[in-house]
Amino acid sequence: MPWRLEYRDFRPQEERLREALCTLGNGYFATRGAAPESVAGEFHYPGTYLAGGYDRQATEIAGRTIESEDLVNAPNWLALGFRIDGADWFDLKAVEILEYRQVLDLGTGMLERHVRFRDARGRHTRLAERRLVHMAEPHLAALETAITAEDWSGPLEVRSALDGRVENAGVARYRDLARRHLEPLEARAAGVDTVFLRMRTLQSRLEIAMAARTRLDRPAQARDLVEPGYAGRSLHLELAQGESVRIEKVAALHTSRDRAIAECGEAALGALARAPDFAALAASHRLAWSHLWQRFDMALEDGGERTQRILRLHVFHLLQTASPNTIGLDAGVPARGLHGEAYRGHIFWDELFIFPLLNLRLPEITRALLLYRYRRLPEARENARAAGCRGAMYPWQSGSSGREESQVLHLNPRSGRWIPDHTYLQRHVNAAIAYNVWQYWQVTRDHEFLSHYGAEVFLEIARFWGSFATYNETHGRYEILGVVGPDEFHTADPDAGRPGLDNHAYTSVMAAWVLARAADVLAALPEERRAELREALALGDEELARWDDASRRMRVAFHGEGIVSQFEGYDKLAELDWDRYRAEYRDTSRLDRILEAEGQDVNRYKVSKQADVLMLFYLFSAEELAELFGRLGYPFPADTIPKNVAYYSARTTHGSTLSRVVNSWVLARSDREGSWRFFQEALESDVADIQGGTTAEGIHLGAMAGTVDLLQRGYTGIVARGDVLWLNPCLPAELACLRVTVRYRGLTLDLDVRQKELHVHARASNAAPIALGVVDRVQRLAAGESRAFSL
Ligand code: BGC
Repeated sequence: MPWRLEYRDFRPQEERLREALCTLGNGYFATRGAAPESVAGEFHYPGTYLAGGYDRQATEIAGRTIESEDLVNAPNWLALGFRIDGADWFDLKAVEILEYRQVLDLGTGMLERHVRFRDARGRHTRLAERRLVHMAEPHLAALETAITAEDWSGPLEVRSALDGRVENAGVARYRDLARRHLEPLEARAAGVDTVFLRMRTLQSRLEIAMAARTRLDRPAQARDLVEPGYAGRSLHLELAQGESVRIEKVAALHTSRDRAIAECGEAALGALARAPDFAALAASHRLAWSHLWQRFDMALEDGGERTQRILRLHVFHLLQTASPNTIGLDAGVPARGLHGEAYRGHIFWDELFIFPLLNLRLPEITRALLLYRYRRLPEARENARAAGCRGAMYPWQSGSSGREESQVLHLNPRSGRWIPDHTYLQRHVNAAIAYNVWQYWQVTRDHEFLSHYGAEVFLEIARFWGSFATYNETHGRYEILGVVGPDEFHTADPDAGRPGLDNHAYTSVMAAWVLARAADVLAALPEERRAELREALALGDEELARWDDASRRMRVAFHGEGIVSQFEGYDKLAELDWDRYRAEYRDTSRLDRILEAEGQDVNRYKVSKQADVLMLFYLFSAEELAELFGRLGYPFPADTIPKNVAYYSARTTHGSTLSRVVNSWVLARSDREGSWRFFQEALESDVADIQGGTTAEGIHLGAMAGTVDLLQRGYTGIVARGDVLWLNPCLPAELACLRVTVRYRGLTLDLDVRQKELHVHARASNAAPIALGVVDRVQRLAAGESRAFSL
């Protein structure tokens, strides 16, 4: 069934991975798919994370005080355990499992678990469970459990709680960092079947209030279990042979940052009091998911059931991290979802891979996420100023306030050494943000957004690049010095004695693109707004002239025959003995760690963690690149793309899951088989945990969204450029047909793409007609019209 992710056995070693993959969330918060009876330990890691719920703590490491900001593991609302006749509390690892089935239903957003087991005393018991994190009521979650006494009678004790005695302990590598982020404020019973818990984060002083109601369908004796950070109830009942008990737990969650509340405790209790029973919640939750799927689903013919299922899983997790519920929040999109603690919940450049999917489906979500950046302009300006630049320099890793949250030391688990980390020099994140503003504008023509927010972000980033670039008299060109690119293996010229690389091609070309586009952004504004903004930013003609000049004379280095040098001096690096490393190590994706453990420096080798120069071919079409390089006065012959793809692919370990997405994309037209292979591998990134352990710490949202976007834009050739929506399909041989629905400038378009045909239907609406370009012909398409094309 391409709508279900199903596990038919219990494997303790795989449990953490499944918990990440079975996370349920709604864009406001998410809860890992851990068993309700489980506690954090070797095999389980229950975790609940709030969008934007961070806390900073300081730790002493390697003689330094390191401050790190974490996405806080919030109190566990799910906690529910039971025991029969005073024996041990139910634990899957301590019983004989006779039947086991765990199903994540992607269509309805429900996680189910069915277990039949024999305990140490030979009793047979059946357990059936369903849970949801409500997509339409973002403050609610619910769990329904049925326990059946198959061949025994006797007392059963159920314990249901809100557990705030949790820490951030989900990632082994971070074990030396401070883990405690919560302090207890209040724990109590609140009425006959309800408990209430209030905690506060230590530094960010975010109050988190939870209320939970636990109801049984048969009489039970209740006792409150309340202690600091924990509010629970113990329920005692008798079951006769063959009887069942149904336990329904509904939880409500609010924080002191929520809108439209007086106080979060009152809000949580109020939301719970209004909440209907599980069945009614399930019905409204399903409806919300069905509406999302109408916008986000896509259908493949012949692509294989597994492919279809994984694509849906990817859309599912994207929407659980960023959904319509995100629209009113002040949250960005964490690289690892709200699914675990990897990268401490930070926000990187991954939105570059995520927004295209949202832009063409529910651009309101992109808008909300771009506003996360807009609100952090003051911090980005301060960041630029501190670096001696003008404009806005966004941090590589962003969290609550928008200050730089990158780690300054990282642990190599292979060698056990803490190593200085210079990856924060990835200034290219600024180009990504500007690019995202521009793409959102291309797809939506949201004038108000551009006028009030987008243009200011864009121009301040352009100003940063304009001031960061220095003029080199010898070359007669501008240069960008001391940066790191997407390939995090290279953070310095090994002999230069300072971190950072010079004339990093991807960074420099992107900077040139931003500087060139700034004029178009200004031109797109209404005259009076343009004048206001130029006045407010003191943006004079001279500065604009410098931007234009720098956009035409930015230095890019080349070597060999038409190879774009990843950075100045790349050609002088040594070739790695790939055969040796491949023979010696099963997994070479993190060659940086392997080499460091051997006492070597990865900086000395032509080996990349991920696509870097190739990013240019991912973001721009061949025509756009020819124009961009042409403007810079560099040749861009037709074979540039295939030559560079071959050169760099052969030297890349794909140590980031983003890398295969890019490689698949850049091969889509020249090597359909190769492209499909990378696509299939990228699909497996999380579901098969191809990095061997990282998914358990959080999904890879960029790769998830990127794979869906490969079908959506890559293979359909959708490009929103100027006032034309271009389509240039090129399906892999494995796909007979691809059906997607996209939104473009207010119009909903159903696309039916086949190997030799394309059918486009614009659904009825009052949106204005659009210009549709297929291959190289442009025509008008109005609401209610259809067009067919042979390819
Ligand atoms: C990659 C970055 C990415 C980050 C978060 C890193 O491993 O190198 O490009 O932004 O993960 O996903």
